[in-house]
Amino acid sequence: MRALILGGTSEARALARRLVAEGWYVTSSLAGRVAEPKLPVGQVRIGGFGGPAGLARWLLDNDTVVVIDATHPFAERISVSAAEASRATGVPLIALHRPAWEQTKGDQWLAVSSMSEAAALVADRFQSPFLAVGRQQLAHFADDAHGRYLIRCVEQPSAPLPPKRRIVLSRGPFDVAEERKIMRDYAIDCLVTKNSGGSMTYAKIEAARDLKKPVVMVQRPVLPGADFASVVHSVDDAVHIARKIAWTA
Ligand code: NAP
Repeated sequence: MRALILGGTSEARALARRLVAEGWYVTSSLAGRVAEPKLPVGQVRIGGFGGPAGLARWLLDNDTVVVIDATHPFAERISVSAAEASRATGVPLIALHRPAWEQTKGDQWLAVSSMSEAAALVADRFQSPFLAVGRQQLAHFADDAHGRYLIRCVEQPSAPLPPKRRIVLSRGPFDVAEERKIMRDYAIDCLVTKNSGGSMTYAKIEAARDLKKPVVMVQRPVLPGADFASVVHSVDDAVHIARKIAWTA
Protein backbone atom coordinates (compact mmCIF):
# COMPACT_ATOMS: atom_id res chain seq x y z
CA MET A 1 0.00 0.00 0.00
CA ARG A 2 1.39 3.37 -0.99
CA ALA A 3 1.63 6.40 1.24
CA LEU A 4 2.74 9.77 -0.10
CA ILE A 5 4.53 11.90 2.48
CA LEU A 6 4.90 15.57 1.66
CA GLY A 7 8.15 16.22 3.45
CA GLY A 8 11.09 18.50 4.03
CA THR A 9 11.00 18.18 7.81
CA SER A 10 12.54 15.92 10.44
CA GLU A 11 9.09 14.58 11.32
CA ALA A 12 8.54 13.58 7.70
CA ARG A 13 11.79 11.59 7.71
CA ALA A 14 10.89 9.92 11.01
CA LEU A 15 7.46 9.05 9.65
CA ALA A 16 8.92 7.56 6.45
CA ARG A 17 11.17 5.34 8.56
CA ARG A 18 8.23 4.15 10.67
CA LEU A 19 5.88 3.46 7.75
CA VAL A 20 8.55 1.64 5.73
CA ALA A 21 9.21 -0.54 8.80
CA GLU A 22 5.48 -1.35 8.91
CA GLY A 23 5.52 -2.54 5.31
CA TRP A 24 4.12 0.54 3.55
CA TYR A 25 5.43 1.48 0.14
CA VAL A 26 6.42 5.05 0.96
CA THR A 27 7.14 7.87 -1.46
CA SER A 28 8.47 11.04 0.15
CA SER A 29 8.19 14.24 -1.81
CA LEU A 30 10.61 17.15 -1.45
CA ALA A 31 10.30 20.60 -2.99
CA GLY A 32 13.92 20.63 -4.16
CA ARG A 33 14.85 23.95 -2.53
CA VAL A 34 18.01 22.66 -0.84
CA ALA A 35 20.93 21.41 -2.94
CA GLU A 36 21.85 18.53 -0.62
CA PRO A 37 18.72 17.62 1.36
CA LYS A 38 18.69 15.02 4.13
CA LEU A 39 16.98 12.12 2.41
CA PRO A 40 14.33 9.91 4.01
CA VAL A 41 14.22 6.13 3.63
CA GLY A 42 11.94 4.74 0.94
CA GLN A 43 11.34 6.23 -2.48
CA VAL A 44 11.98 9.95 -2.93
CA ARG A 45 10.66 12.29 -5.61
CA ILE A 46 11.83 15.87 -5.90
CA GLY A 47 10.07 18.95 -7.31
CA GLY A 48 6.59 20.47 -7.42
CA PHE A 49 3.52 18.61 -8.69
CA GLY A 50 2.14 21.57 -10.65
CA GLY A 51 -0.46 22.70 -8.12
CA PRO A 52 -3.43 20.84 -6.63
CA ALA A 53 -4.50 19.28 -9.95
CA GLY A 54 -1.02 17.87 -10.53
CA LEU A 55 -0.90 16.43 -7.04
CA ALA A 56 -4.38 14.92 -7.46
CA ARG A 57 -3.25 13.27 -10.68
CA TRP A 58 -0.14 11.90 -8.98
CA LEU A 59 -2.23 10.40 -6.17
CA LEU A 60 -4.52 8.60 -8.62
CA ASP A 61 -1.78 7.54 -11.05
CA ASN A 62 0.17 6.00 -8.19
CA ASP A 63 -2.72 4.22 -6.41
CA THR A 64 -2.10 6.19 -3.25
CA VAL A 65 -3.97 5.04 -0.15
CA VAL A 66 -3.11 8.02 2.05
CA VAL A 67 -1.37 11.37 1.67
CA ILE A 68 0.40 12.78 4.70
CA ASP A 69 1.19 16.46 4.81
CA ALA A 70 4.26 16.55 7.03
CA THR A 71 5.59 19.81 5.60
CA HIS A 72 6.76 22.77 7.63
CA PRO A 73 3.91 24.79 9.24
CA PHE A 74 4.90 27.79 7.09
CA ALA A 75 4.84 25.86 3.80
CA GLU A 76 1.38 27.15 2.95
CA ARG A 77 0.97 26.45 -0.73
CA ILE A 78 1.81 22.76 -0.67
CA SER A 79 -0.58 22.31 2.27
CA VAL A 80 -3.34 23.99 0.25
CA SER A 81 -2.52 21.60 -2.62
CA ALA A 82 -2.69 18.60 -0.28
CA ALA A 83 -6.10 19.65 1.03
CA GLU A 84 -7.52 20.36 -2.42
CA ALA A 85 -6.10 17.17 -3.97
CA SER A 86 -7.44 15.08 -1.11
CA ARG A 87 -10.88 16.67 -1.45
CA ALA A 88 -10.90 16.12 -5.22
CA THR A 89 -9.72 12.49 -5.18
CA GLY A 90 -11.08 11.18 -1.88
CA VAL A 91 -7.59 10.01 -0.89
CA PRO A 92 -7.54 10.55 2.89
CA LEU A 93 -5.30 13.32 4.22
CA ILE A 94 -3.35 13.21 7.46
CA ALA A 95 -1.89 16.58 8.47
CA LEU A 96 1.09 16.09 10.75
CA HIS A 97 1.28 19.51 12.34
CA ARG A 98 3.83 20.06 15.06
CA PRO A 99 2.61 22.13 18.00
CA ALA A 100 3.51 25.83 18.04
CA TRP A 101 5.91 27.19 20.66
CA GLU A 102 4.25 28.84 23.62
CA GLN A 103 5.61 31.89 25.37
CA THR A 104 7.01 31.08 28.79
CA LYS A 105 8.36 32.98 31.83
CA GLY A 106 11.22 35.27 30.81
CA ASP A 107 10.31 35.36 27.11
CA GLN A 108 9.79 38.79 25.57
CA TRP A 109 7.87 38.02 22.41
CA LEU A 110 6.52 40.56 19.98
CA ALA A 111 3.94 38.61 17.98
CA VAL A 112 3.37 39.60 14.36
CA SER A 113 1.15 37.98 11.78
CA SER A 114 3.43 38.13 8.74
CA MET A 115 7.03 38.61 7.67
CA SER A 116 6.24 42.06 6.27
CA GLU A 117 4.86 43.07 9.67
CA ALA A 118 8.02 41.68 11.29
CA ALA A 119 10.17 43.76 8.92
CA ALA A 120 8.25 46.97 9.66
CA LEU A 121 8.55 46.41 13.41
CA VAL A 122 12.25 45.60 13.22
CA ALA A 123 13.04 48.66 11.07
CA ASP A 124 11.16 50.84 13.54
CA ARG A 125 12.54 49.50 16.84
CA PHE A 126 15.82 47.63 16.46
CA GLN A 127 19.37 48.25 15.24
CA SER A 128 21.05 44.80 15.29
CA PRO A 129 18.47 42.17 14.41
CA PHE A 130 19.24 38.48 14.01
CA LEU A 131 17.18 37.01 11.18
CA ALA A 132 16.71 33.27 11.61
CA VAL A 133 13.80 32.99 9.20
CA GLY A 134 15.24 30.98 6.33
CA ARG A 135 16.11 32.66 3.05
CA GLN A 136 12.87 32.86 1.11
CA GLN A 137 11.34 35.92 2.76
CA LEU A 138 14.41 38.03 3.41
CA ALA A 139 13.38 40.60 0.78
CA HIS A 140 10.91 42.08 3.27
CA PHE A 141 13.88 43.48 5.20
CA ALA A 142 15.75 44.83 2.16
CA ASP A 143 14.57 48.43 2.43
CA ASP A 144 15.93 49.03 5.92
CA ALA A 145 19.10 51.03 5.26
CA HIS A 146 19.90 51.56 8.94
CA GLY A 147 19.74 48.20 10.73
CA ARG A 148 22.87 46.01 10.92
CA TYR A 149 21.46 42.59 10.14
CA LEU A 150 22.82 39.21 11.05
CA ILE A 151 21.29 36.72 8.61
CA ARG A 152 21.68 32.99 9.16
CA CYS A 153 20.56 30.45 6.61
CA VAL A 154 21.59 27.11 5.15
CA GLU A 155 22.34 28.34 1.64
CA GLN A 156 23.29 31.69 0.12
CA PRO A 157 20.16 33.84 -0.23
CA SER A 158 19.30 35.15 -3.68
CA ALA A 159 16.65 37.66 -2.61
CA PRO A 160 17.36 41.40 -2.22
CA LEU A 161 18.90 41.99 1.22
CA PRO A 162 19.34 44.94 3.58
CA PRO A 163 22.56 46.83 2.76
CA LYS A 164 24.20 46.44 6.19
CA ARG A 165 24.36 42.74 6.79
CA ARG A 166 26.50 39.78 7.78
CA ILE A 167 25.51 36.41 6.38
CA VAL A 168 26.31 33.23 8.28
CA LEU A 169 25.74 30.05 6.30
CA SER A 170 25.20 27.06 8.56
CA ARG A 171 22.79 24.22 9.04
CA GLY A 172 21.39 23.42 12.48
CA PRO A 173 20.46 22.03 14.83
CA PHE A 174 22.32 24.41 17.17
CA ASP A 175 22.49 24.01 20.92
CA VAL A 176 21.71 26.77 23.40
CA ALA A 177 25.38 27.58 24.06
CA GLU A 178 26.00 28.03 20.33
CA GLU A 179 22.95 30.25 20.03
CA ARG A 180 24.00 32.39 23.00
CA LYS A 181 27.48 32.71 21.48
CA ILE A 182 26.30 33.93 18.10
CA MET A 183 23.88 36.38 19.73
CA ARG A 184 26.68 37.77 21.95
CA ASP A 185 29.36 37.77 19.24
CA TYR A 186 27.19 39.89 16.95
CA ALA A 187 25.66 41.98 19.76
CA ILE A 188 22.18 41.40 18.42
CA ASP A 189 19.31 43.36 19.96
CA CYS A 190 16.46 41.12 18.79
CA LEU A 191 15.82 37.72 17.24
CA VAL A 192 13.37 37.35 14.36
CA THR A 193 11.90 33.90 13.84
CA LYS A 194 8.85 32.04 12.61
CA ASN A 195 6.87 30.10 15.19
CA SER A 196 8.00 26.83 13.65
CA GLY A 197 7.48 24.73 16.77
CA GLY A 198 9.38 21.52 17.51
CA SER A 199 12.60 20.94 19.38
CA MET A 200 15.12 21.14 16.49
CA THR A 201 15.25 24.95 16.33
CA TYR A 202 14.06 25.86 19.83
CA ALA A 203 17.54 26.59 21.25
CA LYS A 204 17.52 30.11 19.79
CA ILE A 205 14.37 30.88 21.80
CA GLU A 206 16.03 29.67 24.99
CA ALA A 207 19.18 31.67 24.23
CA ALA A 208 17.18 34.86 23.62
CA ARG A 209 15.39 34.26 26.93
CA ASP A 210 18.72 33.74 28.75
CA LEU A 211 20.14 36.95 27.27
CA LYS A 212 16.88 38.89 27.82
CA LYS A 213 16.56 39.70 24.14
CA PRO A 214 13.18 40.34 22.54
CA VAL A 215 11.92 37.89 19.92
CA VAL A 216 9.87 39.07 16.96
CA MET A 217 7.72 35.98 16.51
CA VAL A 218 5.91 35.46 13.22
CA GLN A 219 2.67 33.62 13.92
CA ARG A 220 1.64 30.60 11.86
CA PRO A 221 -0.73 30.62 8.93
CA VAL A 222 -3.99 28.70 9.30
CA LEU A 223 -3.67 25.01 8.41
CA PRO A 224 -5.61 24.32 5.19
CA GLY A 225 -7.90 21.30 5.26
CA ALA A 226 -8.11 21.29 9.05
CA ASP A 227 -11.89 20.86 8.74
CA PHE A 228 -11.69 17.42 7.10
CA ALA A 229 -8.12 16.08 7.44
CA SER A 230 -6.99 13.95 10.35
CA VAL A 231 -4.86 16.52 12.14
CA VAL A 232 -2.20 14.98 14.40
CA HIS A 233 0.71 16.43 16.32
CA SER A 234 3.13 13.53 16.54
CA VAL A 235 4.67 10.86 14.33
CA ASP A 236 3.14 8.18 16.58
CA ASP A 237 -0.35 9.54 16.00
CA ALA A 238 0.23 9.78 12.25
CA VAL A 239 1.29 6.11 12.17
CA HIS A 240 -1.79 5.18 14.19
CA ILE A 241 -4.17 6.92 11.76
CA ALA A 242 -2.34 5.47 8.75
CA ARG A 243 -2.85 1.98 10.21
CA LYS A 244 -6.58 2.63 10.59
CA ILE A 245 -6.79 3.84 6.99
CA ALA A 246 -4.93 0.70 5.83
CA TRP A 247 -7.41 -1.56 7.66
CA THR A 248 -10.36 0.01 5.83
CA ALA A 249 -8.67 0.35 2.42
P1 NAP B 1 5.33 26.28 -0.26
O1 NAP B 1 5.44 27.75 -0.39
O2 NAP B 1 4.15 25.71 0.41
O3 NAP B 1 5.44 25.57 -1.67
C1 NAP B 1 5.64 26.23 -2.89
C2 NAP B 1 5.57 25.21 -3.99
O4 NAP B 1 6.70 24.31 -3.90
C3 NAP B 1 4.35 24.31 -3.88
O5 NAP B 1 3.23 24.91 -4.47
C4 NAP B 1 4.82 23.05 -4.57
O6 NAP B 1 4.84 23.22 -5.99
C5 NAP B 1 6.28 22.97 -4.16
N1 NAP B 1 6.46 22.17 -2.94
C6 NAP B 1 6.57 22.59 -1.64
N2 NAP B 1 6.78 21.57 -0.83
C7 NAP B 1 6.81 20.46 -1.60
C8 NAP B 1 7.01 19.09 -1.34
N3 NAP B 1 7.23 18.64 -0.08
N4 NAP B 1 6.97 18.22 -2.39
C9 NAP B 1 6.74 18.67 -3.65
N5 NAP B 1 6.56 19.97 -3.95
C10 NAP B 1 6.61 20.85 -2.95
O7 NAP B 1 6.62 25.67 0.48
P2 NAP B 1 7.97 26.37 0.99
O8 NAP B 1 7.65 27.24 2.15
O9 NAP B 1 8.69 26.93 -0.20
O10 NAP B 1 8.73 25.09 1.53
C11 NAP B 1 9.28 24.16 0.61
C12 NAP B 1 9.64 22.90 1.37
O11 NAP B 1 10.60 23.19 2.37
C13 NAP B 1 8.45 22.23 2.05
O12 NAP B 1 8.42 20.89 1.65
C14 NAP B 1 8.70 22.40 3.53
O13 NAP B 1 8.35 21.26 4.28
C15 NAP B 1 10.20 22.65 3.60
N6 NAP B 1 10.52 23.64 4.65
C16 NAP B 1 9.93 24.86 4.62
C17 NAP B 1 10.22 25.78 5.62
C18 NAP B 1 9.55 27.13 5.66
O14 NAP B 1 9.83 27.91 6.60
N7 NAP B 1 8.67 27.47 4.72
C19 NAP B 1 11.13 25.43 6.63
C20 NAP B 1 11.72 24.16 6.62
C21 NAP B 1 11.41 23.27 5.61
P3 NAP B 1 3.64 22.75 -6.92
O15 NAP B 1 2.53 23.73 -6.68
O16 NAP B 1 4.22 22.79 -8.28
O17 NAP B 1 3.24 21.35 -6.49
